[in-house]
Parts: sequence; C-alpha cells; structure tokens
Amino acid sequence: MIKVIKNGNVITMDEKRNKQIEKLDIVIQDDTIIKLEPTYLGDADEIIDASSKIVMPGLINCHTHLGMSLFRCTNDNYNLNDWLNKKIWPIEDKLTSKDIYYSTLLSCIESIKSGTTTSADDYFGYPDFIEAIKETGIRELFTSCVMDSDGNGDKRLDIFKKLYNENKDMSDLITFSIAPHSLYTCSSLYLEKLRDLALKYNLPIHIHLSENLDEVKEIKQKYNMKPAFVLEKLGLLKCKLILAHCTYLDDDEIELLKNHDVSIVHNPVSNLNLGCGIAPIKKYIDNGLNVCIGTDGQGSAINIDMFYHMTFVDLLQKGLYKDPTVMNSYDVLKLATINGAKALGLEDKVGSIEIGKKADIIILDYDDISIYPTANIISQIVHNTRNYHVITSIINGKTIMHNRKLLININENNLKNEIDNIMLKLDIH
Ligand SMILES: [Zn+2]
Repeated sequence: MIKVIKNGNVITMDEKRNKQIEKLDIVIQDDTIIKLEPTYLGDADEIIDASSKIVMPGLINCHTHLGMSLFRCTNDNYNLNDWLNKKIWPIEDKLTSKDIYYSTLLSCIESIKSGTTTSADDYFGYPDFIEAIKETGIRELFTSCVMDSDGNGDKRLDIFKKLYNENKDMSDLITFSIAPHSLYTCSSLYLEKLRDLALKYNLPIHIHLSENLDEVKEIKQKYNMKPAFVLEKLGLLKCKLILAHCTYLDDDEIELLKNHDVSIVHNPVSNLNLGCGIAPIKKYIDNGLNVCIGTDGQGSAINIDMFYHMTFVDLLQKGLYKDPTVMNSYDVLKLATINGAKALGLEDKVGSIEIGKKADIIILDYDDISIYPTANIISQIVHNTRNYHVITSIINGKTIMHNRKLLININENNLKNEIDNIMLKLDIH
C-alpha cells in the first residue's frame, strides 16, 4: 500500500536537511516513509493533497495521565497536595476499569484531534485502559503507575507486571515504562526494587520529580540530600530516566543529571495552574539536558492540546529570563517532536519526517483568518495554532483523522454520554 502526501509545505524536523520548510511529496509504504521528493511521479494507492497546507511530524506528549480527562478543570484554588488528597484520590478509589476506559478514550481522541501522535502515560493501568489505546491506534509509552505509600506497593507492581507481560509483544505502537509516582509516595526499598526491574526488562523509568517546593523540602528532610542526589543514591541513574516537571533543579543537580541518560519533561501549564512555579528549561537545555514537553493530565493542564502548551513554553522562558532571545520557535518545536522521541527511546522511529522512519505525520490547514497572514510559519505553529487547525493525523501510516473526521470506529456523541453518566455517578465537579 503506497500513500502519498503531495505538494505540502513540509517541516521535517530533520536537522541534516538544513531547511526548516520545503515543498516535498512524502511517499509512505504501509507504515514507513520510503521517499521524500520535490515531485513524486510513481504509483500510488492513495493521494492526500496537501497543497497550501503545512505537513509536520506528529507531536509527542511526554507526560500525561490519559485516564484523568474526567478531572478536567477541577483544581481551581487548590494547591497540589490538597487537590490530590481532597479531590482526586478519594474519587480515584471509586473509579472502575470501564470508567477509566471511557476517560482514556476521550483523551486519546483529544490527542489525535490536536495533532499528538505519541504520548507517554502515567496512570493506573486497568485492563480496559489498554483497550482504549488499541482502539484509537495512538502510539503510546504505556505503564501502570506504582507507589507503596498506601500499603499497596506489591499489588500495584503485580498489576504492572501482568499488563507488561500480556501486552509487551502485542503491537509496534505500544512500548512500556516503569512509573513510580514520585520520591514522596515511594519508599527507598520500593524504588530500588523498581530500579532492578527496569534494568532487567530494559525499560525507562518515568517519575514525577521536584514538581513544587514543598516536595523538594520534604525529600531533603527525608534523605538529607537534594532530589537528584536521591536518584543517584538509590541507583536510579543507572536507568534511562524520564523526569516529569523538574520545576526546581539546583546547579549541582543539573551537573549530576547531565552526565546520565536523563530527559526532563517540562509541563508549563500544569506548573502554573497548581502554583508550582516555572522551570528554567533554558538553563537545562544550555547544559545539554534533553528537554521535551508534557501536558500533564487535564485536571491541572486544562487540555492536552500540545499547540496550546507550546505557546506557554516559549512565552514563559522569555518572561522568566526577561530576554526575548533565550528561545525561538524552532527550538520549541524540537522539544515537542524530536526531543520527545529521544526522551521515550523512539528517536529511530518517530519525531521527524525522514526516510526509514514510521509515518507519524499531521497536516495543518492555515486557511483560517485567525492565522492570516502566515509570514513566519514556524512562529505561527508555536504561538498561534490550536487543535482545530489540525485536519489530518496519520499514525504508523494509518490515517486516523482526515478533514477533522475520525476514521476509526468511535462515536463521539455516545462517548460524551458515557462520560456524563460517570460524572453524575461520582459527583465530580
Ligand atoms: Zn503528572
């Protein structure tokens, strides 16, 4: 099966090409990009006309909680601890596997309709959760979040192991991480056990770290050292690490982390919404750390539209450093694409449009008055693009959405009804 995306203005994110935007035809055989040519004249089973459209790699959301769409915008006036303890965790105890299925399905569709083709989840892996992932065809770094502060450490780990063993070879689209929730909800013994498992299975560890100052203080009191040094003490730096947030890292922590296989997932909107602060990612990038972008769950993140979150990434650094030159739009686009792929260990597969890579590609329609004129397309993508500009999403060569219409067998109205019933049942407000 040959699919050709013709006449698009293509942003490949392939630095070897030395061009940010070029007119190219993209030839896809089954799931793989096989040719990039100014004009392709060969055979095709399907042609997608991208004339006057923008074609770019699908976005990579490196930290989210897909099962948390039910909690969208529930954190007004809550700090992180109160929100988790008083609002989220009591309701989560009552969620059924089917509730999480519908909540996850909603998030997957929201992702696809806003141009995200890969995400790294960090939620509780009920069996129905993975069904939602499979049904939508999104690429996923999957897990089941684990912690032992509630006395259920072994039980949670058994759930993860079962899901991993049952699904690890099921699909090219699904890979796994081990996800201890945080240093404050996991004991040192438990973290060491997870480290050994990560090394045995050769999986990355995805963990929240230094999200706010209270957490940093608590960890310093508990271990008598800064959080990054706790990672070292417990041997976690031997693993590939995906560190969500890192709103606060001191210079000696940056110095330590930059010499290991560590990626930092910046979650700007969630950090603002929960009053956590602003991560100085410019400093992390300058020190050679791989930085990428996450939305976090909709509870604190409002939405999981990566275009919306990219805007904050750029504006916040300029404001934080009081210098508009600290970051440019292309840098931000890298964080949302190729850097995300590196963080998740998928850089050989996705993150850029290159021959031999999987076809995870989105198409943007810039005919809308709100983005007219488009003198600087890269800047428009980062500052002035929203979900509704994404008209086509292709994942692993399969067109999942075209002209904003989902091509998978999911009825959005039925889904909204199911979600309404869950909200009523659990009295989420
Ligand atoms: Zn999170």
